[in-house]
Amino acid sequence: MTVADLLRASSLPQLEARILLMHVLGWRRTELITRDLLPLAEDAVARFESLSARRLAGEPIAQLTGKREFFGLDFDVTPDVLIPRPETELLVELALEAIVDTPNARVLDLGTGTGAIALSIAHARPDARVWAVDRSAAALQVARDNAARLLDKSAVTFIQSDWTANIDPSLRFEAIVSNPPYIASDDPHLEQGDLRFEPRGALTDDADGLSAIRTIIETAPLLLASHGALWLEHGYDQAQAVRGLLEARGFTDVRSMRDLAGIERCSGGLFIA
Ligand code: GLN
Repeated sequence: MTVADLLRASSLPQLEARILLMHVLGWRRTELITRDLLPLAEDAVARFESLSARRLAGEPIAQLTGKREFFGLDFDVTPDVLIPRPETELLVELALEAIVDTPNARVLDLGTGTGAIALSIAHARPDARVWAVDRSAAALQVARDNAARLLDKSAVTFIQSDWTANIDPSLRFEAIVSNPPYIASDDPHLEQGDLRFEPRGALTDDADGLSAIRTIIETAPLLLASHGALWLEHGYDQAQAVRGLLEARGFTDVRSMRDLAGIERCSGGLFIA
């Protein structure tokens, strides 16, 4: 059986079949095209069929390959972490904008998961000092492994903490960012697609979707430098509520920004202590 035969016979969408086959063979896209008449080893075919079956049963592509690209970097992904989403790149851009004029800025990422946000910031701004926090020890290990592969040693400090609980209260940050669990517990999306296979604690607060956001907005000012920025990712219908929470806590310059799909996806403001 050749590459072309295998792809033709696959019941997956062609793009997904190609991604899984590249993963099994360790090939790039161009190799898949130029070697399409090459006969495949039996064990490669068997490994492809096993991954295909798992994909057809719903497992996310990123968990099957163990990889997802974000902000130009290749992150390792396991079932212990949220799969990085393209819309979250907006949060990284907003954090970078918040510290653009600040040399050696201190940045805190709450609920880091893969480390996608924290590591992307550290990669773009090697002078910045970045702290990455997660409540989950397993997630923190994934983030640490990603940092060891993608960044210079000690570019990021990792702390196991439930939001800000274990962070040294004498630290001050020019920017705090978070993509917290913001899906309401009764949202049917939790039972659909990739979300069924991701850690529930990374997706939902098991409440109205705003409880983690409330906690972060309440506690972030205690750790912000004067004129420090807080930026949060949130759901498509939460922008107004999040702006209201930020204003009630005393943030200024409160605004929401749209993602590439035109959805108000991140809200933030400055805290002038
Ligand atoms: N953006 C994710 C989704 O809707 C949710 C991530 C999160 O809750 N932070 O699939």
